[in-house]
Amino acid sequence: MLADGEIQAGVVVRATEGYTPALPGLRRELAPVYSLIIATQPLPESVWAEIGWDRRVTLSDARRLLIYAQRSADGRIVLGGRGAPYHFGSRTIPAFDSSPAVFAHLRRTLATLFPAAATARITHRWGGPLGVPRDWTPGVCFAPDTGLAWAGGYVGDGVAAAALAGRTLADLIRGQRTPRTALPWVVDHRRPWEPEPARWLGINAGHLLAADTRENRTGRLGPALDHLTGH
Ligand SMILES: Cc1cc2nc3c(=O)[nH]c(=O)nc-3n(C[C@H](O)[C@H](O)[C@H](O)COP(=O)(O)OP(=O)(O)OC[C@H]3O[C@@H](n4cnc5c(N)ncnc54)[C@H](O)[C@@H]3O)c2cc1C
Repeated sequence: MLADGEIQAGVVVRATEGYTPALPGLRRELAPVYSLIIATQPLPESVWAEIGWDRRVTLSDARRLLIYAQRSADGRIVLGGRGAPYHFGSRTIPAFDSSPAVFAHLRRTLATLFPAAATARITHRWGGPLGVPRDWTPGVCFAPDTGLAWAGGYVGDGVAAAALAGRTLADLIRGQRTPRTALPWVVDHRRPWEPEPARWLGINAGHLLAADTRENRTGRLGPALDHLTGH
């Protein structure tokens, strides 16, 4: 039932990713973990030459709370990362899409990784919630008996994965068996996150323990985070 009407459909596909917990009964389905990103002004060729980033390869430091960056078509460094707090009760509001502290952290990281661009002006800052499942594994699901389908839980890697998930859902809904429907991410249920306050404590403790301290020091993922991420 919507505020302004009711829609009936034979099949309903839920593709709400990080916003899913706001739907009734789905509070523990996915944790919205925020990723924020900044972009520099277009950099002059002399800066690119000093950095030595002459092709548009993308990069990531491959930690769980990672930094990722690319050279944009118009010559900017676009650098993002996680580290914004998880908000109690899996809340998502537009104000969470930006955080001065995280933007400042990204700025410092940019200066550390690319000293030649340390004084570049930051012209864009933005962010949004990622959908993180309890086992950090995306899934695709269709239940013909109820007509309910869902896909998601991409943990921030959904641009390509969501397209594959959509094609896979189309096959499933049409009742076709294809190589896509045989992929292991086609599942019939998902393990929920713990209720609050355990969810809030676990995710934010994981951020605190894992991000830039323990892993940097030891080079290894701590056991507490292994448990949290389902690995
Ligand atoms: C800063 C940042 C950088 C990123 N960089 C990358 C990257 O480099 N590569 C990559 O692969 N991924 C990246 N991602 C992740 C990527 O954006 C997501 O994985 C992808 O957008 C997921 O697609 P989706 O369509 O499943 O969900 P979304 O794009 O999150 O779309 C969900 C939709 O659901 C709608 N919605 C919410 N609530 C309701 C409701 N009640 N009813 C109806 N609709 C609703 C929302 O308005 C939204 O349009 C990044 C994310 C962020 C925030």
